[in-house]
Amino acid sequence: MATICFFNIPATGHVNPALALVRALVERGDRVIFFDTPAFQDKVQATGAEFRAVPLTYDFVPRQDVLAPFKAMDLILEQAQRVLPYCLDQARALQPDLILYDTMCPWGSHVAQLLRMPAVTFCAILYIGSRNFLAWPRRTKLTRGMLSNPLYIAAQLAKYQARAAQLWLRYQARSPWFLDFFVNPAALTLLATSRYFQIGGDRFGDAFQFIGPLIEPRHDAPPLPRDWMDGQPLVYISLGTLFNDRADFFRVCVEAFRDAPYRVLVALGNRVRVEELGALPAHIRAEPYVLQLQVLPRARAFITHAGMNSVSEAAWFGTPMLLAPQGGDQDFIAYRVEQLGAGAQIDSRKISPQALRAQTERVMQDERYRAGSRKIGDSFRAAGGVSRALEALDAFMARHKR
Ligand code: UDP
Repeated sequence: MATICFFNIPATGHVNPALALVRALVERGDRVIFFDTPAFQDKVQATGAEFRAVPLTYDFVPRQDVLAPFKAMDLILEQAQRVLPYCLDQARALQPDLILYDTMCPWGSHVAQLLRMPAVTFCAILYIGSRNFLAWPRRTKLTRGMLSNPLYIAAQLAKYQARAAQLWLRYQARSPWFLDFFVNPAALTLLATSRYFQIGGDRFGDAFQFIGPLIEPRHDAPPLPRDWMDGQPLVYISLGTLFNDRADFFRVCVEAFRDAPYRVLVALGNRVRVEELGALPAHIRAEPYVLQLQVLPRARAFITHAGMNSVSEAAWFGTPMLLAPQGGDQDFIAYRVEQLGAGAQIDSRKISPQALRAQTERVMQDERYRAGSRKIGDSFRAAGGVSRALEALDAFMARHKR
């Protein structure tokens, strides 16, 4: 069977969606060697894959400022320079049949180029690149921020190009064009979404395979108490695992729902402590981390930061959403969810408790949002998941036999 090196970044939202594919490859007898930082070792080894620790030092926790992605490009390429010698040595010794890399691992593509190995990109984010540039929403915070800071962006891009030139001079390895930096397509790109959900989905040809989100049960938190899992209406709130330093917003949520006739569950993350929210009434519960896949099917509405995984999981269960994008690609994802009628956007920095409650109840009561969310979920299931991904990888490896 095949030997596959998988390069990934240290971020839950990028590792989690890859695990089901890694497990399926291992189960059918492939040897998978997964490269990431030690924080992800246990999770990866639980799939049966081998693990190699990569000496990354960049903190992949994104900042909320809209121009952060431009700074990140240079910093991530700096990491590529740092880890490339190690990854090259490893791949040279392993002689894999295939290199898989997350979109944000340019070093995966560098290794493949230098050792002339077939490579496939695994895209766990919404694809935002030159291919679908004309379909990008023009009125999000991110695109407005780009248009109003041309000098800053030009300076960051110059830095990025200088770094890319260094990599070229030293190794003759190409780095992606800046518009494609965060998606870094290869000869084959697997997209963990559906063509229907993808912005500009009709612009993607055969080099792009939509496999849908790979959602499988996780057991990384204790289950909720049984009495919280009965049939009573539930509103679920989470800003994901990274962009959640928002005690102010969580307090607005508590105020909004203080006397609401339904239950409210808040997943705070590990930056805000429960005590910071003050005394909570019995129908509001806040935890650092919950079993989101257990909660979503029961939720009547999901107030979310519009992270790609959270949105995909909500749509999988047909849960309607109130979207509070915080940074990164979330602006684009929220735009898409709203466009497809599965939710409504709010500004989490300006919204009052009264408006938040009214908006939440609108999303809970108007059946069109649930129908919109179900439609996205149906498109995900139709995409084929792990078996479609394996099929695409096998066909690719057969065409690129080493
Ligand atoms: N998650 C979870 N419980 C929580 C918070 C998050 O299981 O209390 C999971 C969620 O189901 C999703 C991931 O963490 O799979 C968050 O990924 P997403 O892309 O939505 O956001 P990020 O954390 O990368 O900003």
